[in-house]
Amino acid sequence: MTEYAMVLDYSRCIGCQACVQACGECDTHRGRSMIHLETIRRRDSVQTAPQVCMHCENPVCARVCPADAIKKTPDGVVQSSLKPRCIGCSNCVMACPFGVPKYFAEIDQMMKCDLCYDRTSVGRKPMCATVCPSQAITFAPIDEVQRSRHGTPVNQFRFGREVVRTKVFVMVPEGSSALDVGLVPLERRHAAPPDDVAALLEDMH
Ligand code: SF4
Ligand code: SF4
Repeated sequence: MTEYAMVLDYSRCIGCQACVQACGECDTHRGRSMIHLETIRRRDSVQTAPQVCMHCENPVCARVCPADAIKKTPDGVVQSSLKPRCIGCSNCVMACPFGVPKYFAEIDQMMKCDLCYDRTSVGRKPMCATVCPSQAITFAPIDEVQRSRHGTPVNQFRFGREVVRTKVFVMVPEGSSALDVGLVPLERRHAAPPDDVAALLEDMH
């Protein structure tokens, strides 16, 4: 059977919010959207980027959960928290390197993208991928994505010294095998931040 993969191509995002709306319509999250539509360097660009759960191979969200509320399916999908177990401590919210889990105070529970497991486990596309008009979010065989697009899909991310492997892929420029997400290289940790990092930090304030 052909294996389908979720692929994010941030450069294709046009900021239309269709994915956010479609995600919010899913019954399993009771009207809440689990997608983060991020802005990138707002000062210089109108580019936006959809962020879904990356479904890490060794998910730190589950590792830091004191209540064992986050489970991973045998096919590698990291589920949203189990209501009877979640104590709303937000450890997972703070630990996730991709900023994915959301804490909802009104239900005192963390919820996050579960790759529309009710759909993808029976061979259907996740809600967001069915509506994205520019295919910034795609659910397709990975070799088909490779054949039809510029760039390379990668599922390895370096955060400083830690390498995170994920089920979800991100398109990067041709020839790369991993994406280095560390803002400040180790050798520059104690030096003044470079201009681009300083601008980013300023944008965040
Ligand atoms: S991206 Fe974040 S929420 Fe998703 S599995 Fe990885 S650590 Fe958990
Ligand atoms: S908020 Fe819930 S799911 Fe997240 S770490 Fe705390 S108990 Fe676990």
